Amino acid sequence: MSREALLLPIWELGPKKRYIYTWTCCNCGRSRINIMVEACPDCCTPRCAYCQTTKVQVRQSAFQYAHETQA
Ligand SMILES: [Zn+2]
Ligand SMILES: [Zn+2]
Repeated sequence: MSREALLLPIWELGPKKRYIYTWTCCNCGRSRINIMVEACPDCCTPRCAYCQTTKVQVRQSAFQYAHETQA
C-alpha cells in the first residue's frame, strides 16, 4: 500500500464545504463584514461584543466573496 492510499481517508474526512465568519455592525447595521476586518467599513466602529457574528457557508467563490465583503 502506498503512502498516498494511507493519506486518502484523511482527505475524505475533511468536509469540502467551507465556512467563513461575518459580522454585523451594531452601530450602523451593516452586515456581512468579513471577520478579518476589525472595524466597520461604513462607520469605522470596531467590532465589539454586541456585533452579531454569523457563520456563512461558502463554495469555491470564497475568496471572491471575501474580497467583495472587504470592499
Ligand atoms: Zn458600522
Ligand atoms: Zn458592535
